Amino acid sequence: MNANDLIYLDYAATTPVDPSVIGAMTRSLAEEAGCGNPSSLHPFGRRAAERIEAARSEVAALIGAAGEEIVFTSGATESDNLAVLGAARAQADRGRHLVSSRIEHKAGLDPCKRLEKEGFAVTLVGPERTGRIDPRAVAEALRPETVLVSVMWVNNETGVIQDVAAIGALCRERGILYHTDAAQAAGKFPIAVHDLPVDLLSFTAHKLYGPKGIGALYVRAGVRARLLPLLFGGGQERGLRPGTLPTHQVIGFGAACALARGALGSEGPRLTALRERLWEQLRAIGGVYLNGEGAERVPGILNVSFEGVEGESLVSALGELALSTGSACSSASGEPSYVLRALGRDTELAQSSLRFSFGRFTSTDDIDAAARAVRREVERLRALSPATERPTVSAGDEVVGEAGGPGREVWIRFRLQVRAGRVSSVTHRVYGCPHTLAVAAWLAERLPGSTHAALIPGTPAQWAETLGVPAEKLGRLLTLEDALRDCQRRWPGV
Ligand SMILES: *Cc1c(COP(=O)(O)O)cnc(C)c1O
Repeated sequence: MNANDLIYLDYAATTPVDPSVIGAMTRSLAEEAGCGNPSSLHPFGRRAAERIEAARSEVAALIGAAGEEIVFTSGATESDNLAVLGAARAQADRGRHLVSSRIEHKAGLDPCKRLEKEGFAVTLVGPERTGRIDPRAVAEALRPETVLVSVMWVNNETGVIQDVAAIGALCRERGILYHTDAAQAAGKFPIAVHDLPVDLLSFTAHKLYGPKGIGALYVRAGVRARLLPLLFGGGQERGLRPGTLPTHQVIGFGAACALARGALGSEGPRLTALRERLWEQLRAIGGVYLNGEGAERVPGILNVSFEGVEGESLVSALGELALSTGSACSSASGEPSYVLRALGRDTELAQSSLRFSFGRFTSTDDIDAAARAVRREVERLRALSPATERPTVSAGDEVVGEAGGPGREVWIRFRLQVRAGRVSSVTHRVYGCPHTLAVAAWLAERLPGSTHAALIPGTPAQWAETLGVPAEKLGRLLTLEDALRDCQRRWPGV
């Protein structure tokens, strides 16, 4: 998808809504002005209910389930919450232990944390370096009092596919419920849930070209009794998720699932080819690491770390690409991805990762343009970094001041030429976030003409204010100040 020359490569965060899904939804809304509560018995209501049941069948068919096994929710977050909280609370008298993984989406992890506050014990299994969860590690974590295992099908950051058949089999042998978050799996490859030892499965419309705000929890026949609802009200969705069903949303979800099912055969190979094409071009840049290498992965996600490049600076320099560092959820917090850390990546490489995710509307041209842009910016940022310059010491009229260093958030080196007691010219090398880069460049512009005593123009707090740097980044500016102090210490004749 190309809008204003922006290339959308963030399909794992959300997919564009397919035009035919938009058509089905707007027709549904326009029809009788959305009249008809599907719970009502008059003809308006009955028509809405019929449409919903037809859509439910499409949603069920995508994963090989029966319509009665589908509970509509507001999305995968709610489905994960309903599965994890609902299954744990309903079975608390049987046992108070659950097993999940360190690489779950927050929508799966946070309900586990909540349950710990309610007196449950949770064991989080870590992945192998490839990003794969070893089913034997899950087996080791099981206890007699374990009532639920929740391990995702496809990881949203790396695209690594987990062995749900093996993990589910361990659970089934022991009578433990198995839930899997399939938000990144549904619609990506054929799923026949009845052939798998899976009891609960979460998925969501907006990851498969449907609207946001609607998802589903598959509840295998017979499992309903081992689940407590999160909401209470009118009894809809067999009491598991009461509330008036949003007819147009459900219809959009159904249309999206029908489309996805039709495209399963052709999309996989096409996206695999695009992924390999992108990886070949990125690998050629050098100093590039594939996250999830060696594990089976879905075709539409490629997660790559770039040595010697700060991730935030890379993403913000790639203005023509809409993509994420790590996952969309963790990029707001600026923390290095906990998923990549769990894979054994150090902070620096975890922070310098890009997640390329693409799909139905991505073309070969998009992929090639993205690879070209990434090469350009990786090379530019590396050339700007002190790491790629032969470090020299102050000598003669040249003053070299440095602070931070490899593996740190900031690494800065100023190189000043001093003539007659004043700075005559300045160059600098810097590694860091976009704010650090901007302030370093701004300082370098201001230094010519300065004397030893007046070398530091104001304070880091003032620089932050002038350039709009958020307060939490102030520490990075202190490192820039340290480098200028280092210049003062090395000033000729001082
Ligand atoms: C997107 C996503 C979710 C959250 O889904 P919503 O429908 O946005 O609530 C949960 N788990 C995974 C793996 C996801 O990718």
